[in-house]
Amino acid sequence: MEKALLKNYGNAETHKIDVYIAGGGYVALASAMKMQSDQIIQLVKDSGLRGRGGAGFPTGLKWSFIPKDPTIPKFLCCNADEGEPGTFKDRGIIDFDPHLLIEGMIIASFAFGASKSYIYIRGEFAFGAKRLETAIKEAYQKGFLGKNILGSGFAHDMYVHRGFGAYICGEETALLESIEGWRAQPRKKPPFPALSGLYGKPTVINNVETLSCIPAIISRGAKWFSSIGPEKSPGPKIFGVSGHVKKPGLYELPMGTTIRELIFDHCGGMSSDRPLKAVIPGGVSAPMLNANDLDTKLDFDSLASKGSMLGSGAVIVMDSSTCMVKTAYIINRFFSHESCGKCTPCRDGTPWLTKVLKRLEHGEGRIGDVELLERLCSNIFGRTFCPLGDGAVMALRGFIKNFREEFQYHVDNKKCKAA
Ligand code: SF4
Repeated sequence: MEKALLKNYGNAETHKIDVYIAGGGYVALASAMKMQSDQIIQLVKDSGLRGRGGAGFPTGLKWSFIPKDPTIPKFLCCNADEGEPGTFKDRGIIDFDPHLLIEGMIIASFAFGASKSYIYIRGEFAFGAKRLETAIKEAYQKGFLGKNILGSGFAHDMYVHRGFGAYICGEETALLESIEGWRAQPRKKPPFPALSGLYGKPTVINNVETLSCIPAIISRGAKWFSSIGPEKSPGPKIFGVSGHVKKPGLYELPMGTTIRELIFDHCGGMSSDRPLKAVIPGGVSAPMLNANDLDTKLDFDSLASKGSMLGSGAVIVMDSSTCMVKTAYIINRFFSHESCGKCTPCRDGTPWLTKVLKRLEHGEGRIGDVELLERLCSNIFGRTFCPLGDGAVMALRGFIKNFREEFQYHVDNKKCKAA
């Protein structure tokens, strides 16, 4: 498959606009500017592109929710927070191909009439933020941003907004609060951002990888995109692989590639002689799969049918030396630390889970602790204001479902089975 998203990954020059243009960059923007906005939205709908940030919502449909009234200001926000542990795919685009993202953002903004766009980038990505700021400046100088872009009469301004490293800012409404200068806590939905988003105006929030797919869809067509991978989850996808494999890193592959193909054909197999024990397929919120699930396809629907999710496409591979209790403890500690505190089940429930997991891990588990974890999960799941609480529970339930005997071993023997 010819690469569309990582074709410039690792290239030390492609972040410069002249190099990007020489490689065919901004041709898609020129083509899009000759199209009607409805045509672009229809093209994106026909491509079958679904959001690459985690939820998998159809992108063209999301754009079509924006009111058509030209007198209402509209915004595009690019979610570059990339806070899900294990995830590093968007950074690969931002650092090496910032103009790919910027071009996608201008096309998207033109399609639904956004006059301003913001790239919300996590605070730790200082290098990427600088790259984007320089790239935006270059795009203004070449006439791809600003007034009357490419003589179309369309005007658009773009800004980089740096966050401060809070996981909750990846939740789209908390992200909007943060841009507005408030404490980043999720908003009540409805109203959804398409009607009342940034500063109360219609707003689309898309992930970096999602927006970076747009130039290729314009240039190569909706049929090209929809012909890659499964019918209902088509397109190229970046998988960020970490853990016990020989060649961890970023891989652009067709959606629907199996876990086995990813690990053994592309990542060189396991990093040691130890067998594979578990795989988290989409960032730590995604319920884990075990060694029997290697032939599961990595796409939205196949993973949902297995009770997990594609999430951010961050694939974490663990071999038999991994202690599942310790791993669950570390992951849960992260969620409880990142809880924004707005709702009680998450604010009080996730630290309680962490407390129980900590004592299991430290050989101080009590009889009934595994059942207590399950009861706590039931009291959190479905009762929280935003998906953070549910994500913490789904992750932990995945650990207990697949490796319950290991948790019980910690209770009964006060030590770890895997070690
Ligand atoms: Fe905040 Fe957690 Fe409630 Fe989300 S679920 S609003 S992160 S306290």
